[in-house]
Amino acid sequence: MSRQQTRRKCRCCTKFFIPDPRNQTRQHYCPQPACRQASKAASQRRWLSKAANSDYFRGADQVLRVQLWRKSHPGCLIDNSVKPSDVAMPSHLSATTMRR
Ligand SMILES: [Zn+2]
Repeated sequence: MSRQQTRRKCRCCTKFFIPDPRNQTRQHYCPQPACRQASKAASQRRWLSKAANSDYFRGADQVLRVQLWRKSHPGCLIDNSVKPSDVAMPSHLSATTMRR
């Protein structure tokens, strides 16, 4: 069985690429890191613009979830009244581990 590979133009860099065969109809961005980042940003914007998702991280159960997380991560407490330059990053959250 041979399936014809179709080329597609990337929505970010506008160069032609061959989409993954398993995702041929839905992939609109090439695998370049900058284009993947643009794809994620567009996807996030699309998700946030849906009315059903506007309250996704709100409500009593989400408050409880965050409170439990804060208890289990005491060094990661974020105080919005303190400037980022005043706060020392916890050693287990150094810049090298946060980078992706
Ligand atoms: Zn691209």
